[in-house]
Amino acid sequence: MQYNRIKDVLATEPLQQKIEVRGWLRTRRNTRDFSFLEINDGSCLANLQVIATPDLANYEAIVLKLHTGCSLRVTGELQESPAKGQKVELHAGTIEVYGWADPDVYPLQKKRHSYEFLRTIAHLRPRTNSLGALARIRSSLSHGVHQFFREQGFVNVHTPIITTIDCEGAGDMFKVVAPSHTLQEKTDAAANTHFFGKPANLTVSGQLQAEVYAMALGKVYTFGPTFRAENSNTSRHLAEFWMVEPEMAFCDLAENMDLAESFLKYLVHHVLENDAQDLQLFAKFIDKKLYAKLQMITDKPFCRISYTEAVNMLQKSGKNFEFPVQWGTDLQAEHERYLCEEIFDQPVFVIDYPKDIKPFYMRVNDDNRTVAAMDLLVPGIGEIIGGSQREERYDVLCTRMKEMHLNLDEYRWYLDLRNFGTAPHAGFGLGFERFLQFVTSMNNIRDVIPFPRAPGSALY
Ligand code: ATP
Ligand code: MN
Repeated sequence: MQYNRIKDVLATEPLQQKIEVRGWLRTRRNTRDFSFLEINDGSCLANLQVIATPDLANYEAIVLKLHTGCSLRVTGELQESPAKGQKVELHAGTIEVYGWADPDVYPLQKKRHSYEFLRTIAHLRPRTNSLGALARIRSSLSHGVHQFFREQGFVNVHTPIITTIDCEGAGDMFKVVAPSHTLQEKTDAAANTHFFGKPANLTVSGQLQAEVYAMALGKVYTFGPTFRAENSNTSRHLAEFWMVEPEMAFCDLAENMDLAESFLKYLVHHVLENDAQDLQLFAKFIDKKLYAKLQMITDKPFCRISYTEAVNMLQKSGKNFEFPVQWGTDLQAEHERYLCEEIFDQPVFVIDYPKDIKPFYMRVNDDNRTVAAMDLLVPGIGEIIGGSQREERYDVLCTRMKEMHLNLDEYRWYLDLRNFGTAPHAGFGLGFERFLQFVTSMNNIRDVIPFPRAPGSALY
């Protein structure tokens, strides 16, 4: 299956060469003497312009009937283009149709469609410029994530999607249940009610399992889907999203922030270098200040302040928030955004949150009121990363788990890590879709994942 991808065709110089492209017709327009076809094959944002002349054997019968959306195979000769805005064009020698698209019912017409509408046709929306660009940027950044950690000597660990951890403090979990006929075939009593012998859920985070591997391999990361059964119908929450979670042994909160900061800077450089054309689309149509925002990440160090300082600043700001700011309550998105957008105008790490609003595994600070947590807040989004130094002291961890009414027997394995060769360790979770939103300035998180899952909606 040898044919040319349009991305390569547009990037290579030698003209007069014979090429073959395969893709979908974006538009066709006629002049008196010939037809212009704009073909896109998904390899890049740009279309290839094809010139079809009446001497093609099927010009009248086929070419003049081609409409937006049909799939084509075109061979011909690449030539310099006299037209503005493109270097080359393809002079067609043959045009074959793989599949037609009836113009009366094909939903993607030349006009711009709303993202809301495109969400209802999730099977066709990757054929639009912006959703195609998002798919390529997503793929590129996924690659960048692995490349960063590989360069830094991290081991990629595939943590489970089905877990039996009973409570991780991260959010509500979806239950995993087997059909009753499967359970009836089993003989032991426990399996009769639960496929795995006990209740199982879809994971909300790979962190606890990543800790296991960090405490053997030193530096690890997971990058996979996570699930939250919360009824959060916002533009920043999905029921299924992807999370990048590094975990490092022999590491404290400051080093954890250093990693998070260099990671984000790396990813932004990566997208600027590798996805310039796709990114340009978002800078042009979605956010005129996109490059300035990205430069803010690459150019200066992030701020680091304590939760207590953040609360003081917010209270002194005089701003009328929907949710009042009070020491001891969690920061809401409006507070997070006010901090990094209005007060600092740059990314801000907020550390040392009250222990009562954070999960059991975060390390208790000497004040015994706060824990070594860190959230990274960025303009336009609010929280993009949540992380912490983990509690490595066996006794302190037990006390804290009891305070939170957790069943210590369920966490024997987790406590064992503190019994056998414990060490300070830390890690964080980056919401991959939140990062994609940041990089593209897309307003709704449902548009940066191919098939969004949210309350009341899961197409296909
Ligand atoms: P939030 O307060 O914004 O709901 P969280 O504190 O519940 O987030 P964590 O449990 O700390 O989130 O998860 C780590 C990261 O995963 C977050 O910083 C965010 O980037 C991302 N994230 C969390 N929940 C969601 C979600 N429902 N959809 C998409 N990304 C999410
Ligand atoms: Mn968080």
